[in-house]
Amino acid sequence: PDITIAIDGFSSTGKSTVARQLASALSYVYVDTGAMYRAVTLYAIRSGFTSGENVDHKALVDHLNSLDLEFRHNSDTGRSDMYLNGENVEKEIRTLEVSSLVSQVSVLPEVRTKLVALQRKMGENKALVMDGRDIGTVVFPDAELKIFMTASPDIRAARRYKELLDRGEDVKYEDVLENVRKRDHIDANRAVSPLKKADDAVVVDNSDMGREEQFERLLFLAKQ
Ligand code: C5P
Repeated sequence: PDITIAIDGFSSTGKSTVARQLASALSYVYVDTGAMYRAVTLYAIRSGFTSGENVDHKALVDHLNSLDLEFRHNSDTGRSDMYLNGENVEKEIRTLEVSSLVSQVSVLPEVRTKLVALQRKMGENKALVMDGRDIGTVVFPDAELKIFMTASPDIRAARRYKELLDRGEDVKYEDVLENVRKRDHIDANRAVSPLKKADDAVVVDNSDMGREEQFERLLFLAKQ
């Protein structure tokens, strides 16, 4: 059956980790929609459509047709990697530079239209877990299960900071916290598909939950 589990929430709530774990336990397909917005952002940076934290909206929208996004299975990691025009960009899309511009790219209605169409296609006749900001509200409003993940900003920033350090990025905690706050603000206040809890979503605040506990909770919800 093509069951859909939608997981939305603020940045760095650990959505992807637990969503991936859940998908694997249920043998569902997992789709990380943040990776898609990040790949469009990387494309904008590489094309010279950004300066500082500004994005040349018109230039990017004009070039959207020459942008091909695809997930391909990586047999070494067992995960799906993001490919931008045939190139594996899984690493490049996770930098703080991309994070600091992605919310400005994801406000663009043309970008959202393109990615939402792709996401719906990925879900056709498949059981899947998809995580993002608008999955339960816009992409799959009829999803069988909707989760809204949240945690306090400093806990989320601390998690993201550790992740970036582990990846070898030279970052300051304050900058990461600022980025998390800023992204939440833009994501929650944009005109098109703002980040918000779907009326029928279950809220999971994982501020005081470990990975295993979050997984158990989601698995329990999925099996109801
Ligand atoms: O989930 P992740 O932190 O990788 O998402 C990066 C950014 O992509 C978010 O801050 C948001 O601006 C955008 N996004 C979105 N809609 C989604 C997924 C991500 O606008 N469904």
